[in-house]
Amino acid sequence: MNEFLPQRDVDLTSLNTLGFSVCAHRYVAIRSARELSSYFKAYPDEDCFVLGGGSNLVLTRDIDATVLHMQSRGVAVYEETDTHVVVGVQAGEIWHDFVMASVARGWFGLENLALIPGTVGACPVQNIGAYGVEIKDALHKVKAWDRLTQSWVWFDNAQCEFSYRDSVFKHAFLDEACTQSRYVISKVFFKLLKDKTQWQPKIGYGDVATRVADLAAGGEVTAVHVAQAIIEIRSTKLPDPKVLGNTGSFFKNPIVDAALAAQLKTTHPNAPMYPQPDGTVKIAAGWLIEQAGFKGLRDGAVGVYEKQALVLVHHGGGTGAELMALAQRISAAVFTQFGVRISPEPMVI
Ligand SMILES: Cc1cc2nc3c(=O)[nH]c(=O)nc-3n(C[C@H](O)[C@H](O)[C@H](O)COP(=O)(O)OP(=O)(O)OC[C@H]3O[C@@H](n4cnc5c(N)ncnc54)[C@H](O)[C@@H]3O)c2cc1C
Repeated sequence: MNEFLPQRDVDLTSLNTLGFSVCAHRYVAIRSARELSSYFKAYPDEDCFVLGGGSNLVLTRDIDATVLHMQSRGVAVYEETDTHVVVGVQAGEIWHDFVMASVARGWFGLENLALIPGTVGACPVQNIGAYGVEIKDALHKVKAWDRLTQSWVWFDNAQCEFSYRDSVFKHAFLDEACTQSRYVISKVFFKLLKDKTQWQPKIGYGDVATRVADLAAGGEVTAVHVAQAIIEIRSTKLPDPKVLGNTGSFFKNPIVDAALAAQLKTTHPNAPMYPQPDGTVKIAAGWLIEQAGFKGLRDGAVGVYEKQALVLVHHGGGTGAELMALAQRISAAVFTQFGVRISPEPMVI
């Protein structure tokens, strides 16, 4: 019997957080590393699309390639000293559940990344980040199947080539349409701090410090307090995808050269700008979109979230093509008004 007999015409509406109704012509659930390598050994030339939690994807059409849905589970400690722990996590684990389990065990390093949707296997792909922390700060190494060489490969932190919402995994494809990822991540290893005396909570962002102080109520601040504060703050700022379809921030914050930043500062002194170590300047995309007049706009079944202009939403009954048309309208307006190009964060199929 073929253990990988694909399911046909699987509805992906509940498997993408925008809630677009598209279908996978062929769908296979991958439940372990062994299944992953066996699949590619059995079908080395098959067109495949790797799906995690579907929270960073815009699906504009049915998927012809076989959708490999990563559902492998398991968390194991590989190394433990008095100060650190190295923990290996299967790609299909739910990211937020792993964060909460690790802070509950007294491990530090992931607390600021609580409540980000999706799977562990996808977290290195765009170097997920929030509240002053990126996954590159805690990632030890990655195990992936290389579809080009048909073998397991390892990436240490430097080899992942992390930068803002970017990594080597976001650029390695087998096809020109960029749907066939060369590397399929099977396991991610994190190096987390155990020794609380070495821990410096990162709470300087927005109102995190105030909320953490409330939660700690005069006692010792723990990673659980930080995670809890971030969960509460995020819940007030971002729409719950179960209620209103979205992918979190839709646009990346653009990084411009110093000359353009200086020019913008003279015309728009209030523009939020963040100088980078290499002399470039990061600008808040949400501010640009809000200034261009799109915050809260509704365009048929899609729109811009009323509380945060960086978030595009799907009200139901719409399509990925409609969302992308709105995204292009927004980018063009921002470019016309500010001379700054903004680009989408999610993968567009
Ligand atoms: C409400 C909301 C809030 C969000 N907040 C944040 C935030 O604060 N910070 C942030 O960085 N992101 C945020 N995101 C985006 C998203 O949650 C992350 O990018 C997440 O890591 C995507 O995981 P996923 O499993 O859903 O990936 P998917 O959407 O399924 O896939 C995304 C991409 O990764 C590839 N991929 C998935 N799994 C693997 C694998 N095992 N191996 C190789 N490639 C793989 C897919 O092919 C696709 O190209 C948010 C999204 C939502 C809906």
